[in-house]
Amino acid sequence: MELIKQAINQLQLGHRQKAAQLFLESYHHELIPEGITTPKQLAEVISPADASHLVSALAHMSCVCCQRGITKCENCKGTGRISNDDICEACLGIGIVACKFCGGTGWISLEDIPQGFVMDVLVERIKVALYRIMVNLESSTEIFSSDASSTDPKEYLKQFLLLNRQLAVIEAGMVFLEAPTNAQSASQNQLEKLIELSVKKAIQAWRQIRELLGSLAQCYLKEAQKTSSANIRKIHLQQKADYYQSLHDSFDCLNATEWEFSRLYQKALQHAQHKQQQNQQAVHHPTPHATAQNPDHSASPKTKTNPPQDDQPNEDDPSHQANAIYSHPYHKRMGA
Ligand SMILES: [Zn+2]
Ligand SMILES: [Zn+2]
Repeated sequence: MELIKQAINQLQLGHRQKAAQLFLESYHHELIPEGITTPKQLAEVISPADASHLVSALAHMSCVCCQRGITKCENCKGTGRISNDDICEACLGIGIVACKFCGGTGWISLEDIPQGFVMDVLVERIKVALYRIMVNLESSTEIFSSDASSTDPKEYLKQFLLLNRQLAVIEAGMVFLEAPTNAQSASQNQLEKLIELSVKKAIQAWRQIRELLGSLAQCYLKEAQKTSSANIRKIHLQQKADYYQSLHDSFDCLNATEWEFSRLYQKALQHAQHKQQQNQQAVHHPTPHATAQNPDHSASPKTKTNPPQDDQPNEDDPSHQANAIYSHPYHKRMGA
């Protein structure tokens, strides 16, 4: 128990990383009293508050392979461009990708966490991720209210990375729940409910990401226009502007890139399809007036291609311009 006591001391001093390290050490050296394999059991020998703080510290211990969930893109060696001077589509031309080791969460791998603690750690991580998405969405008016062309592109990239990191945390929770051997814990129910909640937040986060890509396009377009002579820099800026605009207009802008979180995306699609079915049922039983005005609405191709939407679909949302990815000249050229 000595190491656990030291860990609690470190917590009280505000040294969460150190506290988590000491806790892990006590586990790996089997210095923890026998029979303590879950946070609940730990709470019985220390205190519920200390146990909960320790789980939180453990949940937010940094990944040993990256900083904040990102690493250099190997496809372009961090340059954002590939051999024939095209934008690297793996990383969206930013030269960095989600860390493979932690899945882009920036937190230590679940494999390093004592088994009985993993579910609670995931619950803690997802709660914080949801909170961060919420705060980001609420404060976004600030970044979007200013003129995009006069904003530093780094500002948009920062927001992009922040949102993707939270999506990575949710994705990791889903991956864990899918593994058959992992489906046993008192916190499982809580985790499942949190993930259900996360799907709606993820859809909002992706909308925000789409807007960020649109703002990036405006930044680069303005820069390209300011560059008078037709040099390579101007060409690159124009290329970037076109590329980010095409992503902004596309149906599934992050698919097949290193920024794709496929399980979460699939779940979001299912959620959207379910909503769509509900909407279609409403169309099948409309008022007689509405039927006369738009008899073919339910057969519209648009209903098949809508990207994930949350509960309040907005027809003005650019994400309704589905399938632009397949017709945009840049994507044709890149063979996407
Ligand atoms: Zn790259
Ligand atoms: Zn990492």
